[in-house]
Amino acid sequence: MQSEYDVIVIGGGPAGYAAAIRAAQLGLKTACIDKRLDAKGKPAFGGTCLNVGCIPSKTLLDISHKFVDARDKFSSLGINVADPSIDIAKMQKQKQQVVGRLVRGISGLFKSAGVDALPGTGTLHSGPGVEYAPHDGDSSRLSAANVILAPGSVPVELEKIPLTENAIVDSTGALEFSEPPARLGIIGAGIIGLELGSVWGRLGSEVCLLEAMDEFLPMLDQEIAGQAKKLFARQGMDIRLGARVLGADVGKDGVALEFSDATGTHTQTFDRVIVAVGRRPYTQDLLSPNCGVVPDERGFIAVDDDCSTGVPHVFAVGDAVRGPMLAHKATHEGVMVVERIAGHKPSVNYDCIPNVIYTHPEIAWIGLSEEEARGRGLDTEVGRFPFVANGRALASSEAEGQVKVITDAASERICGVTAMGPSASELIAEAAIAMEFDASAEDLGLTVFAHPTLSEALHEAALDAFGAAIHMPSSR
Ligand code: FAD
Ligand code: AMP
Repeated sequence: MQSEYDVIVIGGGPAGYAAAIRAAQLGLKTACIDKRLDAKGKPAFGGTCLNVGCIPSKTLLDISHKFVDARDKFSSLGINVADPSIDIAKMQKQKQQVVGRLVRGISGLFKSAGVDALPGTGTLHSGPGVEYAPHDGDSSRLSAANVILAPGSVPVELEKIPLTENAIVDSTGALEFSEPPARLGIIGAGIIGLELGSVWGRLGSEVCLLEAMDEFLPMLDQEIAGQAKKLFARQGMDIRLGARVLGADVGKDGVALEFSDATGTHTQTFDRVIVAVGRRPYTQDLLSPNCGVVPDERGFIAVDDDCSTGVPHVFAVGDAVRGPMLAHKATHEGVMVVERIAGHKPSVNYDCIPNVIYTHPEIAWIGLSEEEARGRGLDTEVGRFPFVANGRALASSEAEGQVKVITDAASERICGVTAMGPSASELIAEAAIAMEFDASAEDLGLTVFAHPTLSEALHEAALDAFGAAIHMPSSR
């Protein structure tokens, strides 16, 4: 029997919506089901990323950073702005406008590509078939030649620290504060905790991050992590490592958090607390008992390198499968799967996925850190260049941080780049291109970079990897 759809995608986040658009471009009859509703109860495609993740957080980070510049920096540059203040309601309205625009954009893209947007819940059945339950109306069974599961993730909750309406919130709640809490406690000093701490700290909160691990940002180059921790402390973020939060007591004076560290058990009271201890795959209502796909003990859907679940014609992509929980990784997986369905042979290069922390300065990395490269037994050459020696960084009064380029001496290839500094999130794309094309540090050295640009810091770090940096003494 002919299926109604060539492809049904369940989940309309960066993994799912990109998969659906690409599938339609390739001439496949496609539907995308997403259950998310916005605050007004209207369907909102775009997933975590557009609605409660990347986009709203980056909007708040950008506005709060501009405010701090106006308050703390402008006068030193000769710009006099009398006593700047922040209108949080207006900032939140701006954030909502950005989100709304992008969410509407997805509907527009679906329309022009010819994707059927189906708001409601999708459940995989054997076949593969999909039960579609619209928000209002009766469920129906849709048949599909291929189903792509892209259900994404939700914040991890701590059993002993349940969320409350106002006092204890997750990342979604922390994007909605109507004023900076005077004392803000954040459980978890990972990427999301640091970004949200930056936003509210800049706007006036006294921020304390309690992190269970002894190491700060263990996935990051540890030299850069140490420098970042000092910079964040200078910005007023009190980061306590080795501090495991055990429980919370919500009272009149705020939330009393109980935590243990090397010196014993302590209690500290905050006006509000953000639980930022990671995310977990979200598979509620996604899988019927007969569908053949069973999540592993941590809730992830097991897939191979091509994102196949092992059940014929059923694929899974994005945050719900192994690998970093990042929007761009999710998108690439979604696109890769539909291109393979259409008979092409792309793959995702998991060794070449950039990571960014959108603090100030930004921290971005790709490939191996110095420690990871050494841990793999590689004979490494490390090139460094500090932004304080970069003309453009100085010209824009943004000279904190450095770029590190790690090369494998045997193959001469660049195997990792870490950058902390101005526009590190943009700069890491240049490193991604270099690594994707298997460039050596010398290849980057031979490439002409415009002057004066921040990118020259990457150029000089690559030159430094073989002792040829011009604007600083060799670090080798
Ligand atoms: P999601 O975006 O979670 O989308 C899945 C969608 O599927 C959801 O809308 C869900 O409602 C829907 N769904 C699930 N099950 C069903 C079902 N059965 N039926 C119908 N619909 C269903 N990543 C970055 O790369 N850069 C960043 O700067 C960044 N910042 C972030 C900031 C915050 C505060 C947070 C929380 C996350 C951030 N992330 C960032 C992570 C990023 O948002 C995720 O990696 C990305 O959204 C994953 O995409 P996805 O498509 O796999 O899942
Ligand atoms: P990420 O995975 O980047 O979102 O970071 C989440 C962080 O929260 C990790 O670094 C965890 O170590 C930390 N974490 C998890 N549980 C606790 C806890 N009970 N107390 C303090 N930190 C925690």
